[in-house]
Amino acid sequence: MDFKSIIRDIPDFPQKGIIFRDITPLLANPQGITEIVRGFKTKFAELNIGTIDAIIGIESRGFIIGAPLAMALGCSFVPVRKPKKLPSAVFRVEYALEYGTDTLEMHCDAIAAGKRVIIIDDVIATGGTAAATAKLISQCGAELAGYGFLIELDFLNGRKALPEVPIVSLVNY
Ligand code: AMP
Repeated sequence: MDFKSIIRDIPDFPQKGIIFRDITPLLANPQGITEIVRGFKTKFAELNIGTIDAIIGIESRGFIIGAPLAMALGCSFVPVRKPKKLPSAVFRVEYALEYGTDTLEMHCDAIAAGKRVIIIDDVIATGGTAAATAKLISQCGAELAGYGFLIELDFLNGRKALPEVPIVSLVNY
């Protein structure tokens, strides 16, 4: 499936100068999620990444692609959420944005120490969100085995902000 021809480009959203990569037409395609999951499975298998205990999905589009990937791999799914959404005790990480800061949270008991996990999101731009999520993984003592992004914006060099683990992206701009 040619993902790029189905992903829709929305200029100047949410602010002027940004081209928003809208994945909703791809999700709407009856084969879309199946092909995304197949793409990740194939690339992670090629990398010999080993057994994965959990997929960590970043709110909110990371949930949409992370949950079916967890199902396909037969492993757990763990949501990383915006603040004050999770009801039990959380690990919290604050990270810098262009203006101000943002916060992500994960339940403290979501993954046991030593478990091997992959972090999934729809887009890596500057890498700030994905790097912050890696800090949550180290807070709980799990092992980060890799990252998976449906879309990587190469010109922003976001992967430079990430720990040195395998990074899979299915579409590059
Ligand atoms: P960053 O922390 O800069 O890597 O930004 C990643 C987050 O912002 C992801 O969760 C994306 O969903 C979202 N994002 C950033 N840039 C775009 C874009 N051009 N199109 C769609 N989503 C984006």
